[in-house]
Amino acid sequence: MTQTVSRPAAGARKQPLPLDVEAIRADFPILSRTVRDGKRLVYLDSGATSQKPRSVLDAERDFYENHNAAPHRGAHQLAEEATGLYEAARARIAEFIGAAVEEVVFTRNTTDAINTVAYALSNAATAKEPSFRRYAVGQGDEIVVTQMEHHANLVPWQQLCERTGATLRWLGLTDDGRLDLTDLDTVVNERTKLVAVTQQSNILGTINPLEAIVARAHAVGALVLVDGAQSVPHQPVDVAALGADFLVFSGHKMLGPTGVGVLWGRYEVLDALPPFLTGGSMIEVVRMEGSTFMPPPQRFEAGVPMTAQVVGLGAAVEYLQALGMENVQAHEEALTAYALEQLQAIPGVTVIGPPDTVARGGAISFTVDGIHPHDVGQVLDDHGVAVRVGHHCAWPVVRRYGVPATTRATFYVHTGYDDVDALVEGVRAAQRFFGVTPEEATA
Ligand code: PMP
Repeated sequence: MTQTVSRPAAGARKQPLPLDVEAIRADFPILSRTVRDGKRLVYLDSGATSQKPRSVLDAERDFYENHNAAPHRGAHQLAEEATGLYEAARARIAEFIGAAVEEVVFTRNTTDAINTVAYALSNAATAKEPSFRRYAVGQGDEIVVTQMEHHANLVPWQQLCERTGATLRWLGLTDDGRLDLTDLDTVVNERTKLVAVTQQSNILGTINPLEAIVARAHAVGALVLVDGAQSVPHQPVDVAALGADFLVFSGHKMLGPTGVGVLWGRYEVLDALPPFLTGGSMIEVVRMEGSTFMPPPQRFEAGVPMTAQVVGLGAAVEYLQALGMENVQAHEEALTAYALEQLQAIPGVTVIGPPDTVARGGAISFTVDGIHPHDVGQVLDDHGVAVRVGHHCAWPVVRRYGVPATTRATFYVHTGYDDVDALVEGVRAAQRFFGVTPEEATA
């Protein structure tokens, strides 16, 4: 069993926070409710799904109340307005990540976006259209992932390999929760067709050195897919600077509605891929003998889309832009430094992941000696503190660190030091409740 070593973060304390937490909390209706017999809701589970500000809820309601129609169809005014709102949201989201508008494909979520790419790559081999075969994956090819991927960025690649006869390879992890790049040049080689890697780990908090991975992948002619589910909501992400071929993320983790996500792809690459889902909206010409398909992004948006959710995501991006993503990142960094310091000062608490704030985001997973993570979560819940417990859909990670599960706290724009203090107090309360005093915990 290998376990990460806890050591206190240096000199963290309470730095001034860049965001006005009280003002932001007032924008989130759910944060004014209480839980567990009148306790303030301390929501530390934004990594699973974020809460929504009023402007996002209003945008969705306004769409349904005043503009509801199927976009890209119909000759009437409502259809025109719905199309305008849908495409305006696409333009805003494209601007947010520094992309061209036609490179932004709306999906249901990150999982859907990754499956869209995985199925496009396996469908490519048998595509009738020769231009769709360029990135085909087949026998003898290799797909590379890492050991810290969320199941959403692992299982679709395992399945792709089963469908095509390709081989899955992966980069391992170091003891302190970082990617082990020692074997990068052998794992990513001339047989590699695609490297799929997360920018920020949902369980360890690690921010990965994508530059080196992208450079190596492109040097051998492989595509790179970046899972931005935990990075796009929390730090500035610019696709040009990233240099990857795909970036995927979920609206619901970035203050937006559920049911909408984004697949960004470099246009040249998207244009060379066959569709995954087929049907209405994505076709050019349909005859009984066969059909031709629209260019991206429509080729990958079959059926009537999740229009209100897209509009809501546009409003979420507007909210984040008004705060400034640099401020969002700095805010979470300050909270993370403080939380790491406070948690690691509790005897018996072990952080699973980087113990300091170097290249690290605000997902903090930890174990408490002598108490199962589910029990820690239960006591925290009794105190009004909402955290996630379990393997966090990244089972190989908990296995790598020899723990059955972890308790995970994640931060966002409405998180303040009082939330972190409530978490720390809750952990101490769990130790008291289970009779695991700090002294016993270290014994
Ligand atoms: N990747 C990462 C890193 C995640 O944290 C998550 C969500 N927990 C996903 C992918 C999947 O996102 P979704 O469930 O929204 O598709």
